[in-house]
Amino acid sequence: MIQTLKRYFGYESFRPLQEEIIRTVLNGRDSLVLMPTGGGKSICYQLPALLRKGTAIVVSPLISLMKDQVETLCANGISAGALNSNNDETENAVLRRACMEGKLKLLYISPEKLIAEANFLLRDMHISLFAIDEAHCISQWGHDFRPEYAQMGFLHEVYPDVPIIALTATADKITREDILKQLHLNQPRVFISSFDRPNLSLTVKRGYQQREKTKTILDFIARHSGESGIIYCMSRSKTETVAQMLQKQGIRVTVYHAGLSPTQRNEAQDDFINDRAQIVCATIAFGMGIDKNNVRWVIHYNLPKSIESFYQEIGRAGRDGLPSDTLLFYSLSDLILLTKFATESGQTGINLEKLQRMQQYAEADICRRRILLSYFGETATNDCGNCDVCRNSPQRFDGTVIVQKALSAIVRTEQQIGTSVLVDILRGNMNQEISEKRYHQLKTFGVGREVPARDWQDYLLQMLQLGYFEIAYNENNHLKITNSGSDVLFGRAQARLAIIRREDTTAKGRKKETPIPVRELPLGLPNTESKALFEALRELRKRMADLEALPAYIILSDKVLHLLSISRPATIEEFGKISGITEYKKKKYGKEFVDLIRKFI
Ligand code: ADP
Ligand code: ZN
Repeated sequence: MIQTLKRYFGYESFRPLQEEIIRTVLNGRDSLVLMPTGGGKSICYQLPALLRKGTAIVVSPLISLMKDQVETLCANGISAGALNSNNDETENAVLRRACMEGKLKLLYISPEKLIAEANFLLRDMHISLFAIDEAHCISQWGHDFRPEYAQMGFLHEVYPDVPIIALTATADKITREDILKQLHLNQPRVFISSFDRPNLSLTVKRGYQQREKTKTILDFIARHSGESGIIYCMSRSKTETVAQMLQKQGIRVTVYHAGLSPTQRNEAQDDFINDRAQIVCATIAFGMGIDKNNVRWVIHYNLPKSIESFYQEIGRAGRDGLPSDTLLFYSLSDLILLTKFATESGQTGINLEKLQRMQQYAEADICRRRILLSYFGETATNDCGNCDVCRNSPQRFDGTVIVQKALSAIVRTEQQIGTSVLVDILRGNMNQEISEKRYHQLKTFGVGREVPARDWQDYLLQMLQLGYFEIAYNENNHLKITNSGSDVLFGRAQARLAIIRREDTTAKGRKKETPIPVRELPLGLPNTESKALFEALRELRKRMADLEALPAYIILSDKVLHLLSISRPATIEEFGKISGITEYKKKKYGKEFVDLIRKFI
């Protein structure tokens, strides 16, 4: 097993559970595997496929996923193919013959095709195992239900002796049981690995207005120069405006949302996968089917509607296990809008509940990873050290006077205003509504002039979180003071607010900024990496990728490039010892990369 792992996958050791799962399949027993994205599910059926006699049938819901997997396998010298409606007849005929002659180790197939071929191709070949990828699609309870998946119960009736391995990254308890039942798995072993993704850093920025968001994003991208990332936005139009803003800065960016034609969407996805676009600005429509393993960061321009969506979206970063960054912007206006959507959704109760959990995450002042893991039913024993709360826990001050000013303004308007008018009153800004309603004659008009508007937005968010007022969503989002708000207003209680910290994003401030420390790579090696060599290797990889019309990360992963630029192998043999280099790639790419490294040394 270990030999096969190095030879075909390039690794020296298994990750937790992989070895046990593989043994289970090799012993011919059924299994269900729950592992987070990037956890290493593929090897769990690909390695047994290599070791068992015959061809493994892998059911996969999306053509793009099949394509990526097949390219990866072929790039390591493993014979694999995909049978789907995208192929032309000759292609399919060649594949069929290869299956019947037992020349293919893995055949990827869509569920429709699987059902159609049940009495034809499948009967004419020797099947080593069935792997059902994205197995949650089988359940109506899951979020990606596919009717064709629900018909796969026949497999075990027709092939009682062929083991089935079902794999998914998202399955709660009901879905899990549904998968076992519908596939008629026979005394299956269920493997559940931790859903923690320690390589993803977690950061939340609260109460930022558009201009600050823009600055922060540009800064963030500058720190990730040339690295792939996704910006998720709530609306289609927002994806367009954010993309235009980036384009103006000379950044290669593309847009993806459900309003585009299928061709446009495919093109956008393709540009991103092949690094012609560094960044994609997208709605939640983007992501399923993206196996690009070197997405280095994900930004949420707006608050997502649930922790499930959020976790799935940030999960698209760092599949290769290297450090990757996530950044979430959270503002009061997002919250108001999402609450409206949830209320109108027809499933108000559950959707509001989900939104509240998301809100709690964004507002937390305890380790954010603990909150995520506890949401998924895991308990963490330690703070993670890789979220903004862990890195920098908030300091508090006596904010009673600030809170009193805001609450008093709310009271004096008879609780008939929303947050933006409130900030105008506090700051003493004149506008039409203010003058019409004569709010400028209130005693509180302008009492908060010394606090910038953006800070008021932040304090109001904190006050909401502390329960000093509520938002009446059914009354134009007007603010209503609660009992504990009254206690602060009338001096019966003190209010502790968190000090607002902002990075200095002005040109002057930036100069003063300490340089960004080199990210420690978890490679078990001293970090003596040469940036110049890394860039040269990346360029060479890109050239090779273009020659073969393959995405760069399929040629060699980012992790391999880092390892190369640190350990600088000077012979092809040494090159082959690098983790992630398979036998096939050693022979195919060794010389060119070693030549480049030699020249560099
Ligand atoms: P999943 O399908 O669970 O999202 P993949 O199977 O695509 O994850 O694996 C994610 C990444 O981890 C891939 O780049 C893969 O090569 C790598 N990987 C898998 N198993 C190992 C291992 N034992 N050692 C090192 N890297 C591994
Ligand atoms: Zn933490």
